[in-house]
Amino acid sequence: MSHSRDTDAFSPHDHRRCIRTAIAEAERICLEHNSRLTPQRQAVLELIWSSHKPVGAYALLEQLRELGHNGQPPTVYRALDFLLQHGLIHRIESLNAYTGCRHPGEHHTGQFLICSQCQQVAELDDPSLGSRIEDSAARHGFVADSQVIEIRGTCPQCQQQDSHEPR
Ligand SMILES: [Zn+2]
Ligand SMILES: [Zn+2]
Ligand SMILES: [Zn+2]
Repeated sequence: MSHSRDTDAFSPHDHRRCIRTAIAEAERICLEHNSRLTPQRQAVLELIWSSHKPVGAYALLEQLRELGHNGQPPTVYRALDFLLQHGLIHRIESLNAYTGCRHPGEHHTGQFLICSQCQQVAELDDPSLGSRIEDSAARHGFVADSQVIEIRGTCPQCQQQDSHEPR
């Protein structure tokens, strides 16, 4: 596993590769779990992966309808549940939106860098952060089941744009 892919969202890259990898990984994971990546589920996953900007459920509904899929809320929520359960996407609580997981199938805690300007999200995967939180929680006698860390800031691209703006 190379370390650089963690910051891919914030550096210029061929995003079609992200989408292709995500779909291939999803197919592999579904096969492993004996579940099916139905056209509806795949469409939702592709829409979420259309960029590194998390997508909300309502936007997904509209885009699905435009594509001629069943855009009924229960269908979309079921597809989202499926993708969440299989670790293919994450929910960004503070944005009430979904983003594709870059390490599907690997057990990991969710640590996200969220750019306040372009809303793009990059996933950190630092197991040491997760275990330090578990240790701290344990010192309070608390058993942590899940943890999501959402870190706000400015991505490298937006920082560059800022510095180019006339003052
Ligand atoms: Zn990408
Ligand atoms: Zn992930
Ligand atoms: Zn940004």
